[in-house]
Amino acid sequence: MSALPFIPFTRPSFDQETIDAVGEVLRSGWVTSGPKLAQFEARLSEYFGGRPVLCFANGTATMKIALQVVGIGEGDEVITTPISWVATSNVILGVRAKPVFVDIDPITRNIDLSKVAAAITPKTRAIMPVYLAGLPVDMDQLYALAKQHNLRVIEDAAQAFGSQWKGKKIGVIGDLVSFSFQANKNLSTVEGGCLVFNNLDEVKLAEKFRLQGLTRQGMDGMDVDVLGGKDNLTDVNAVIGLHQLKQLPAFQARRSNLARQYFDVIRAEMKFAGIEDFKLELPPENFTESNWHMFQIILPLNQLNIDRSQVMTELKDLGIGTGVHYPTITGFTLYKNLGYQAIDTPIAERIGRSILTLPLFPGMADGDVPRIAQGLCSILKKHRKN
Ligand SMILES: *Cc1c(COP(=O)(O)O)cnc(C)c1O
Repeated sequence: MSALPFIPFTRPSFDQETIDAVGEVLRSGWVTSGPKLAQFEARLSEYFGGRPVLCFANGTATMKIALQVVGIGEGDEVITTPISWVATSNVILGVRAKPVFVDIDPITRNIDLSKVAAAITPKTRAIMPVYLAGLPVDMDQLYALAKQHNLRVIEDAAQAFGSQWKGKKIGVIGDLVSFSFQANKNLSTVEGGCLVFNNLDEVKLAEKFRLQGLTRQGMDGMDVDVLGGKDNLTDVNAVIGLHQLKQLPAFQARRSNLARQYFDVIRAEMKFAGIEDFKLELPPENFTESNWHMFQIILPLNQLNIDRSQVMTELKDLGIGTGVHYPTITGFTLYKNLGYQAIDTPIAERIGRSILTLPLFPGMADGDVPRIAQGLCSILKKHRKN
């Protein structure tokens, strides 16, 4: 066991000002959705170039409401990726529609847009791409496809807050763009999410779905004409978001620096350990578009005599936390029972088995990345298959 401090794969950063601001809300006498939420939504709208923005209790609720707003339901198909947090396809099933999984690109690890057209049927209503680790898909290609086939796009940008496409923030362009503020995300409200709109009528509808389907008139009039849920974000969460938004540029700079360091140090350590022949796949070296939500490698399992689980255990013994984001959704029992098969998307199946998330978060210490790279390369070297 290592005497060095344990490095988790991620950790949120909340400063003293944020903690004090939460205390203020708790003492204010109004703790649920109120003035802080209104302020947070206004700031987010500014951030997204003046587009309307609503916040929700979490990213899953945000995507569910996006589907409800578009009117997707029974008999409809939504095209998405099998390498995502299961929330992406669960919300599609939740509105009684059918997720259609298209294989991923092995380099970007995002949905392979060149394979989408072949999956479109008369029932297809929308494409739901995911920007894994914060790397967007080719937005020109995505929106050309949507236009050509008359489909809506619901972007699962849960991991892409602060990411860009050709100099524009994700959210500033696009149809309906959903973000998550869950604890591990680049901007966190502990739990939360927001939806960026391109259409004011859809904002009104989403507001109804957010709170029981309710509309108010005057001081005492209320009506319910659609079935809504209870998916509002509280002022306690919103005030955290206001402070995180201020810190975001500093968080982003730190993440980019750490990612840069990973590329340099992993390559140097592989050379030093004499394992340059290992087919360790690094993420695309994209420093203009990615927000570096995660740093993920693909393990060269066919060059090793251990599996991913054993690599993770040995890293843990060295005081290094890692994660799996994600095993292919089609391998889960629920999805298998619905008739999906992991082998239908073979690239996703392979990557789902061998992808590994290394620690990356703004609060990491300066020596952490070299320590992680050294630990990783020593484990790979030790378990070389001959
Ligand atoms: C985090 C995440 C979600 C869900 O967000 P929650 O806030 O946890 O509900 C959905 N999709 C992806 C890709 C995510 O990373």
